[in-house]
Amino acid sequence: MTIEGPDRIIECPNCNGLLSHITFLSWNSLGARQWTDSKLDGPMFVPLDSIGRCPHCRHYLWLEDATIVGEYMWNDKNVPLEWKQCPKIVWLKNSDGYSGAVQQKVFGTSGKREEYLRMHLWWEINDLIRHENEEDMETFQERLEEFADNLHALIPLLDMTDRRGQLLHAEIFRELGDFEKCLALLADFPNRDDPVRCLLRDLAQEKNRRVQELKWD
Ligand SMILES: [Zn+2]
Repeated sequence: MTIEGPDRIIECPNCNGLLSHITFLSWNSLGARQWTDSKLDGPMFVPLDSIGRCPHCRHYLWLEDATIVGEYMWNDKNVPLEWKQCPKIVWLKNSDGYSGAVQQKVFGTSGKREEYLRMHLWWEINDLIRHENEEDMETFQERLEEFADNLHALIPLLDMTDRRGQLLHAEIFRELGDFEKCLALLADFPNRDDPVRCLLRDLAQEKNRRVQELKWD
């Protein structure tokens, strides 16, 4: 069950303005759909994003960089009026997306932050074709160059010592249409019976480069 936590008040490190964001005490992935690009989405799956924009100065803001001023529940009494009136953070997925944050290199020198933003940019572009009943192939095609540049830049950021990194590495080449490279990477994958490895291999052999849902019958 997804349980909302208190509203959190934070201070923007750039302009010192106060803003708020929702928190969650727990969430679950029941009914969520998992995809070959590792995105998990579903009706009750609502993990908090790590970055947004300040509603005052519009700067990008990593939540972990902001000072926490306080928290309050909707039924708390004696909450400062200033807290109740402060504007909410602007989430990237509800505004201009992750492209700008990647182009402006708001990850700085942090490989973890760069990986985070590039993974989200990958998912954002795949969202255009993720669900067949609402696909926007035209916009997806227009963003193919950005898609490819982003995936090439993501490869060195992946942790190739674990299963996730190795499978995403192969998946990137499949989605780039380099099926030979994808199959070569999968041939080196240690567990030959891994169901995701088998699915990616089948898709690469069919020369299918589209993101796919992981479905097990
Ligand atoms: Zn600000």
